[in-house]
Amino acid sequence: MASQTSAPPAPSMAKAPEPTRNKKLDPKKPHIADERITKANWYKHVNWLNVTLIIGVPIYGMIAAYYTPLHLKTAIFAFIYYFMTGLGITAGYHRLWAHTCYSARLPLKIFLAAVGAGAVQGSIRWWSRDHRAHHRYTDTDKDPYSVRKGLIYSHIGWMVMKQNPKRIGRTDISDLNDDPVVVWQHRNYIKCVIFMGMVFPCLVSGLGWGDWKGGFIYAGILRIFVVQQATFCVNSLAHWLGDQPFDDRNSPRDHVITAFVTLGEGYHNFHHEFPSDYRNAIEWHQYDPTKWSIWIWKQMGLAFDLKQFKQNEIEKGRLQQLQKKLDQKRQTLDWGIALEQLPIIDWDTYQTEAKNGRALVAVAGVVHDVTDFIKDHPGGKALITSGIGKDATAIFNGGVYNHSNAAHNLLSTMRVGVLRGGCEVEIWKRAQRENKDISFVSDSAGQKIIRAGSQVTRIAEPVASADAA
Ligand SMILES: [Zn+2]
Ligand SMILES: [Zn+2]
Repeated sequence: MASQTSAPPAPSMAKAPEPTRNKKLDPKKPHIADERITKANWYKHVNWLNVTLIIGVPIYGMIAAYYTPLHLKTAIFAFIYYFMTGLGITAGYHRLWAHTCYSARLPLKIFLAAVGAGAVQGSIRWWSRDHRAHHRYTDTDKDPYSVRKGLIYSHIGWMVMKQNPKRIGRTDISDLNDDPVVVWQHRNYIKCVIFMGMVFPCLVSGLGWGDWKGGFIYAGILRIFVVQQATFCVNSLAHWLGDQPFDDRNSPRDHVITAFVTLGEGYHNFHHEFPSDYRNAIEWHQYDPTKWSIWIWKQMGLAFDLKQFKQNEIEKGRLQQLQKKLDQKRQTLDWGIALEQLPIIDWDTYQTEAKNGRALVAVAGVVHDVTDFIKDHPGGKALITSGIGKDATAIFNGGVYNHSNAAHNLLSTMRVGVLRGGCEVEIWKRAQRENKDISFVSDSAGQKIIRAGSQVTRIAEPVASADAA
């Protein structure tokens, strides 16, 4: 048993030497992506592996294509294989695994995992994790391919430049970890990519019609380039070009061009609003071959549980976006001063001012200054002048001429006051009551919504005119 005196004195915490550790593994060292790009360190920011795969190999393919004749059979096969590998991404990676829009039987899963690997866009597991972060954190710093960082960044920059993996938003992929097809493909990814991306198209063209080199260059390398660029367009073009019929608070947009490029993924505004819907295009005439394929697989018994949002919910979103647009439009128009903001004028004051030469006309308790309008009055100068200084409610509402909705709208822009007490105000109050279902509905800016035929100066039942009596 060692005596206490023989034990070396414990070093005090303050004097403890810094443990020597590999500088590359120092957790305190900032990630290269968080450092500024300078002339001295720019090459450290570049993800050279991705540059080689996404840019270098296609350039080699284009040069090689110059020296390789393109056979018709190889061209047709390259196009078909482009479509199949594209579907691997859109129907497989995207709608089946990232969003679980439907369920697939094992043979279909294996097919989609195989052709998806042939598109050379990473494993299902990696792809879906980033894509779920893209939906959850759209347009924020946690979005792996946020279009807010620029169109080029969202298209290709996020792969060409190194990203700090800690920055990307976390998402739950436990369901994918439970899927044996996903796990197997992730573990054997490199083998899958080499075989499905290069070897398989080469074998088909070589064994099929003897065009080994053409199969490698056209159905392999250049076909991969086209599929990759098409998918990248969903991250760039679909967040940049087109309409926003369902929500305009974020960047996703609907456009037929993007849909053509991406096997139907171009209705991206709809997709971000209803991500678990197996459709991206909801109209029959819109181009969504991915949706058609899933539907055909359902008829074949290979796909089931196709998820679809209720039309009622979809239309609600569309309507709310329309309302927002209407509100924005309404706010650009002159609706006259709000009634509650107008000064209250006594009947005597109104008449005195009118006698003193101010062209004031009272309709339904609201006083209007028509000075600048007299010469433009479609019914002529005399008629409008006859209403000056009077209660013109009845004359305006059918006693002499039942004015149009447009006339009521125009009149409201000439408001200068509200009459105090008496019959006129009672008429105004009645008008308010008659329109009570709509008079207090306001738009998003708090402005009252005035519907056609609902201007306060319009009296539903034409009032008996004193002149007419
Ligand atoms: Zn998106
Ligand atoms: Zn998505």
